Amino acid sequence: VGTTTKPDISREKSAALYEKAKTYFPGGVNSPVRAFKSVYGTPLFIEKGDGSAIWDADGNQFIDFCGSWGPLILGHNHPKVREKVMEVMQNGTSFGAPTALENELAELIVKNNKFIQKLRFVSSGTEAVMSAIRLARGYTKRDKILKFEGCYHGHTDALLVKAGSGLVTFGETSSAGVPKSFADETIVVALNDKAAVEEAFAEFKDQIAAVIIEPIPANNGLLLQEKEYLQFLRDICTKNGTLLFFDEVISGFRVGFEGAAGYYQVKPDIITYGKIIGGGLPVGCYGSSAEIMGNVSPDGPVYQGGTLSGNPVAMAAGIAQLTELLRSGFYKDLNKKTEEFTDAIQRFATARNYTFKVFTIGSIFWFAFTNKESIRRADEVDAASMDKFKKLHRELLNRGVYFGPSGYEVGFISSAHTKIDLEKAKRAIFESLEVVFN
Ligand code: PLP
Repeated sequence: VGTTTKPDISREKSAALYEKAKTYFPGGVNSPVRAFKSVYGTPLFIEKGDGSAIWDADGNQFIDFCGSWGPLILGHNHPKVREKVMEVMQNGTSFGAPTALENELAELIVKNNKFIQKLRFVSSGTEAVMSAIRLARGYTKRDKILKFEGCYHGHTDALLVKAGSGLVTFGETSSAGVPKSFADETIVVALNDKAAVEEAFAEFKDQIAAVIIEPIPANNGLLLQEKEYLQFLRDICTKNGTLLFFDEVISGFRVGFEGAAGYYQVKPDIITYGKIIGGGLPVGCYGSSAEIMGNVSPDGPVYQGGTLSGNPVAMAAGIAQLTELLRSGFYKDLNKKTEEFTDAIQRFATARNYTFKVFTIGSIFWFAFTNKESIRRADEVDAASMDKFKKLHRELLNRGVYFGPSGYEVGFISSAHTKIDLEKAKRAIFESLEVVFN
């Protein structure tokens, strides 16, 4: 075990495709993290997926723990999703007019989620967040948004903002092209810090429209918050007439059908979903009480629309996927499988005194090169440790295991991961950790 002599996988075809892609797309990709900038080698171009497996252009096969960054909770190419999509596609792909499929997906959600009465479908997580922020501002007639360092909410201008120095800061733009004046409307504080939130509310009394948080922050490692902290946010928002906004683009339908709100039993005012809701097709949604949603056009003054919103083919994938999730025992089985997998990896690392901790919730997990028992804030993540992830990533690819190409990204387990898959993956992870730590 644990040899570095295993040859790196062949990537000739992926590399050639990447060269060509670079002539068409900035960085050769249509979303930055895909460019493999934080790990070794060129990006792998994927040809197909089935169940827990993906195959790249060179014919390499991997057990996939990226799952298209979260949507594929049933694994790749699930027959129920594929069949429903193909059935609906027989009738055309888009009408720009209402279809019964939108009602069907909405009903599945609303009937099984006590946190939402009405919703609006859009085509991505970013679009859901952007629209919901507008709704929060329109409803409260306030402009400021409070966000947390380390939470990602898509690439809407208002949220491409990072903390400056100090306990409570106006954000600094984290992307060129975001006007400073937009960032001035966004307050950024550290996670798990009550004093900072209290100070922000004191300083910007009656100005904060919404506090937006990933209730399970999963874009800067897995920065698990305590229920008590989320409840604190609930209470301080209520006291100040501010909307509590849970961005559940990752956690929604992942840690349970009611997402993190249901998991922690903390009620947000506005929720966004993406990823799983579309079964691998582009769907997002924002939802709230009927009263708050009554402010969205055409019922109310907050404008938002979309040519492909509620697209029938995308709705079909969502309906098929969410229907499977509602089967009795679905989450219990998936979460148990994840726990056994992550426990075994933790035991292996602990027995060898590796500086390594697996954080996990539901079927989400994150490998952290740390000895800390908990990491709740972005600034507690050791940037230097990402070098170890880089090595781990290469070793894993060489052993047929695919992770998202960044140590800040979490892994996902799907219902398609079999016991055998997970045994194989564990062995590959053990060997790879031995290489990284020896
Ligand atoms: N919100 C969260 C919590 C996310 O993780 C993401 C994407 O990863 C988004 C919003 C943006 O979603 P999309 O990439 O579909 O625009």
